[in-house]
Amino acid sequence: MTFRSIRGTKDILPAETARWQFVESTIRTVFHRFNYKEIRTPIFEQTSLFARSIGELTDIVGKEMYTFTDRSDDSLTLRPEGTASVIRAYIQNNLGEAQPLVKVYYIGPMFRQERPQAGRLRQFHQFGAEAIGSPQPEVDAEIIAMTIQIYRELSLTEFSLKINSVGCEKCRPHYKEVLRSELRKIASQLSPDSQRRIEENPMRVLDSKDENDQKATASMPLITEHLCPECSQHFDDVKKYLKNLGIPFLVDGRLVRGLDYYTKTAFELTSTALGSQDALAGGGRYDLLTRELGGKETPGVGFAAGVERLMMVLDKKGMTREVDIKPTLFIAAADEASRDWTITAITNLRAKGIAAESDSLRRSLKAQMREADRQQAAYVIVVGQHELETGKASMKNMRTGQQQEVVLNDIAAHFPTSGT
Ligand code: AMP
Repeated sequence: MTFRSIRGTKDILPAETARWQFVESTIRTVFHRFNYKEIRTPIFEQTSLFARSIGELTDIVGKEMYTFTDRSDDSLTLRPEGTASVIRAYIQNNLGEAQPLVKVYYIGPMFRQERPQAGRLRQFHQFGAEAIGSPQPEVDAEIIAMTIQIYRELSLTEFSLKINSVGCEKCRPHYKEVLRSELRKIASQLSPDSQRRIEENPMRVLDSKDENDQKATASMPLITEHLCPECSQHFDDVKKYLKNLGIPFLVDGRLVRGLDYYTKTAFELTSTALGSQDALAGGGRYDLLTRELGGKETPGVGFAAGVERLMMVLDKKGMTREVDIKPTLFIAAADEASRDWTITAITNLRAKGIAAESDSLRRSLKAQMREADRQQAAYVIVVGQHELETGKASMKNMRTGQQQEVVLNDIAAHFPTSGT
């Protein structure tokens, strides 16, 4: 019997991980620069956490979650996104007590049972951040600016930013009623999905990807015309800050995004370098979420972005910069005694912080030299009977071809060390 990975999951192979590490370290650098600290939450949670936060009627909760019952009959779910877990951890650990504004980020796998296609996986990776504790629009702008800075840092500039305000408890219910009654009038022209959503979540109808739906709803009232003064002011301020920061954006009154917890600002970043799944990142404000999950009412704003989608764009652009792992020194051994010496020598060198390697397949000297070449070792030493007797060997710089004599007991002196 042979085993294969689960549909919609992917191995990230050794040849790719160096690029992942480079991208992840760039992401972390930007987060740290903006003073966000990492948070790591479990990858599974009580199912009700996600149902409560993301919303029972969303696609994610309704049909995409990996939910299972464990041996204690508890319903658990592999996290489909990061915000719900972060807010749960924020409440549970009283993170707000130590400081009024908590700024955290995460990078890790998420799980959704969607139909796999290019850029859409069932286990994928997101990086994201949450700023919990401030209702102010400058934090919305900071989250957007930070998202964009990550892409810029990786030399990606071809994306577009759409923003909207989805209102709040005060103005959204009224707008939804206005929209619902208008949508009912054109219901017969809409797709079955959109017809169902008229009653469940009318704002999602405007966000439909179906072309007919888009045509039929072209003249529907938009939330941006129905915001209360507070939401309207907040939205104006976010736009002002984005302008001040020189960040181009488009206001899209139809943007709602597939998670129910947003209030006020919602945004999405798309890239034309991607196919039909063109969303790079999305986010927004969620001032009611903490209360909804049983905590004290605390405003928050955040974003999440797909790592695989970012990788796809980097691939398209031919980005090859990476931190590859290569040995600094390869020691080739000519006989058994030299091999015994080499095993001890590379272990001691590694303890001193030097990336040293040797051949563990007991191959011929010629094959060992080929291996050192293949691994792009920076320096090579060949050790045989003569070297062991004299305690000296010749070390070759593989880039320049230059040779220099080294004392076998003191190889480390030739390298900058980072260990003890
Ligand atoms: P969301 O949590 O749905 O707002 O998604 C945020 C970002 O995660 C999207 O913009 C995508 O880049 C990425 N993403 C969401 N779902 C998937 C998926 N099934 N496969 C790969 N990336 C995804």
